[in-house]
Amino acid sequence: MRGRVKTEEIFRRAERVLPGGVNSPVRAFGAVGGLPLVVERAEGSKLWDVDGREYIDYIGSWGALIAGHARPEVQKAIAEQAGKGTSYGMTSPLEVELAEKIAAATPSVEMLRFVNSGTEATMSAARLARAYTGRDLVVKFEGCYHGHSDSFLSQAGSGLATLGISSSPGVPQEYARLTLNSAYNDYRGVERLFFEHGNRIAAVIVEPVAANMGVVAPEADFLEQLRTLTSREGALLIFDEVITGFRVAAGGAQQLYGVRPDLSTFGKIIGGGLPVAAYGGRREIMEQVAPVGKMYQAGTLSGNPLAMRAGLAMLEILSAPGFYEELEEKSERLGRGLWEAAAETGTTGTVNRVGSLMTLFFTAGPVRDYGSAKESDGRKYAVFFHEMLGRGVLLAPSPYEALFVSKAHTEQDIERTIEAARASLQAMAARTTAA
Ligand code: PMP
Repeated sequence: MRGRVKTEEIFRRAERVLPGGVNSPVRAFGAVGGLPLVVERAEGSKLWDVDGREYIDYIGSWGALIAGHARPEVQKAIAEQAGKGTSYGMTSPLEVELAEKIAAATPSVEMLRFVNSGTEATMSAARLARAYTGRDLVVKFEGCYHGHSDSFLSQAGSGLATLGISSSPGVPQEYARLTLNSAYNDYRGVERLFFEHGNRIAAVIVEPVAANMGVVAPEADFLEQLRTLTSREGALLIFDEVITGFRVAAGGAQQLYGVRPDLSTFGKIIGGGLPVAAYGGRREIMEQVAPVGKMYQAGTLSGNPLAMRAGLAMLEILSAPGFYEELEEKSERLGRGLWEAAAETGTTGTVNRVGSLMTLFFTAGPVRDYGSAKESDGRKYAVFFHEMLGRGVLLAPSPYEALFVSKAHTEQDIERTIEAARASLQAMAARTTAA
């Protein structure tokens, strides 16, 4: 895109002091190419870059901002708290209040521990499952992301029963081997893993709605079957609700699908845009955590008062009557609009949507696991991404991320987005025909 002079200048400086110019890889636009965004400010559903370009934002801080940017209630809470101190390193009533609110919304969570990132939450939940069961293996699903801790940076080798192979240098094979992978929505695959390694499996961790291979919903009884199997085998079931918690319903995916995990992890929304995450579950399991129990886990800034105030303000916003219904209506309209835009332009595509999470895959689908998600044409997505960006709509710069609808998106935003999608797909189709 032309005329992004300031962006270019700042990004070149960024590249000299930050690897790839970013503090988290996907921001570098590696999957879509081109000059990444450098943001000046954001408000409601909009975001402005340092060159003054305006975008309708569907990243929403990767799902944290379900009520939009710079909500006045959240601003006020943070400002008030800043005057009382930004960090105590001791317990404050705010931590108790936020913990009580999360527990009240999530019946499977009796106790929880706050941490600062989703990565810490899932890493700690896995450690806790190992401590509680005295077993060492963890089962995860291909295409599910649980943060960047060593045990979760593994992918399947060949075949379902293959022990994990490290997918990042620096992760010792010995760690990766402690993670087993199965295909999402493949209950039989998990059963086979238990058949082979059952007495060593501490936990099965799953995104109850997968949102890191693009959005993939759990099929009919998948979660329920995982529940039954893990209970029978003495392993714990961990729902990673870092994205789905307080998004697909106030009680997360466990409420939506009526399945009760042993442990849950949260992040994003519960911090209202500040760094907060948590892991929690049944009292008897959580009491293994230090200082009550022996499983060690700690944090200088955990339960940080600024972040707790932001989280409390966010949960207050979500508790307004009709919040989720309105979000669903907007999301349904957008999802339908994307389907129609694809159909009208003769695009081979499929839209997966669960509430305000959705993905347009450039494949005929159905997309039900990582294998079928990878059928999506990444080059087409990259072109689509830039067509949309040029029309003032910011999607995730990767084909394997969700599009996050927020309460701040207006009907007009949604209609403009559908129109932009139609025009973008039309332009792509015209170019293909010309070629
Ligand atoms: N779990 C899930 C399901 C996630 O989507 C993410 C990040 N998007 C994480 C864990 C890791 O969270 P964080 O980036 O805060 O470490």
